[in-house]
Amino acid sequence: MKIRQITGARCTLCGHVTEATPDITVCPECGGILDIEYDYDYIRSKLTKYELMDRTESTMWRYMEFLPVEGIGRTPRLRVGNSPLYSAGRLAEAIGLTGPMWIKDDGQNPTASLKDRASAMAVVKAEEAGKHIIACSSTGNAASSLAGNAAAAGMRTFIFVPSRAPKGKVAQLQMFGAKVILVDGSYEDTFRLSAEAIDHFGWYNRNAAINPYLMEGKKTVSLEIAEQLHFKVPDYVAVSVGDGCTIAGVWKGFKDLYAAGFISRLPRLISVQASGCCPINAAAYIHTMDWKPQEENTLADSIAVGVPRNPVKALKAIEESEGVIVNVSDEEILAAMRLLGRTQGIFAEPAGATGTAGLKKALEEGLIEKSASVVSIVTGNGLKDVANAIKATGEPVLLPPDMGKLLEALSKH
Ligand SMILES: *Cc1c(COP(=O)(O)O)cnc(C)c1O
Ligand SMILES: [Zn+2]
Repeated sequence: MKIRQITGARCTLCGHVTEATPDITVCPECGGILDIEYDYDYIRSKLTKYELMDRTESTMWRYMEFLPVEGIGRTPRLRVGNSPLYSAGRLAEAIGLTGPMWIKDDGQNPTASLKDRASAMAVVKAEEAGKHIIACSSTGNAASSLAGNAAAAGMRTFIFVPSRAPKGKVAQLQMFGAKVILVDGSYEDTFRLSAEAIDHFGWYNRNAAINPYLMEGKKTVSLEIAEQLHFKVPDYVAVSVGDGCTIAGVWKGFKDLYAAGFISRLPRLISVQASGCCPINAAAYIHTMDWKPQEENTLADSIAVGVPRNPVKALKAIEESEGVIVNVSDEEILAAMRLLGRTQGIFAEPAGATGTAGLKKALEEGLIEKSASVVSIVTGNGLKDVANAIKATGEPVLLPPDMGKLLEALSKH
């Protein structure tokens, strides 16, 4: 099937262009990560932003002309995308931002993370490729979102996750009927085992970066942000970074809109990693593509990625956007979780709050102006990782059913 708006898949390392078949993975010439390319004149001729705003389809598929698909059929699907963009005045005030701030709460997706955008795309491309089994390795959310989106389409999944994955995410996998392989090792070990198995069994590959369509799904978060802001682009977009696919997708979404003439400028990205695991930021900081592996020392499991799978696209996105680079400690991540909860009523998992932690720190360190307009993306919901939520808040008081004891306890506050 030829998809009219796509011109091909270009290698991010050697520039070689291949045909964008549904099951392409890496560059056949050099093994580099591929990037799907579009015919923006064609997109412009098919869709204006006014036509887009009139659409009734509210999921990520409303941006069909910007996506590598021809139609998604009539199978019932989960409602992926269309997550709320909340004005976040109280949070802005708490962190000393005088300009407008918004939270894009992508924890509101069906399986509760931004990864649903990529997994919904993976399922459609697997169907196009005629495959019935999809596999991936993941720090957790790519897995649970794949399992959920595949279940909704009647497909089977094989999932490899490191044994450190929080219980909530593993429970999701089990509930969605995935075949779960918990790997007693790091994310890197997990990834290697899954790659071998995928090769061996010929499953459809939903591994981060290896499958170039995933980022095309993820970029819909930016298409939505822009549309929700009536195509007025914020000065900054803050996002947490692990493998690098999310930040690269965020950037591509804005670049696509810019190339199609829907927006007139681009935002700067705030790339946030955990100080205990920040290989992409470490390389970005010295403007090199030559990143070095790191240990995975952070409680933010979704971004504990010592060997990132998409460093080139992520580093290019940071460089091109004149990105701001911030690393945050686990304590700063836990503090941002409390802030999101207490000022805005938003419950984020650690990696979900990391973008906001980075925004706060960027303000404190004078890396961005206090009057800037900022969108911070919350990438995952806190119910996935209750243990770290309780770590952030502490346990509540426990009392016998006795009024005297209640008064005593309350007087201490
Ligand atoms: C995957 C994930 C990220 C980071 O995305 P990458 O593509 O790995 O950089 C951030 N937050 C959450 C909640 C995630 O699941
Ligand atoms: Zn190549």
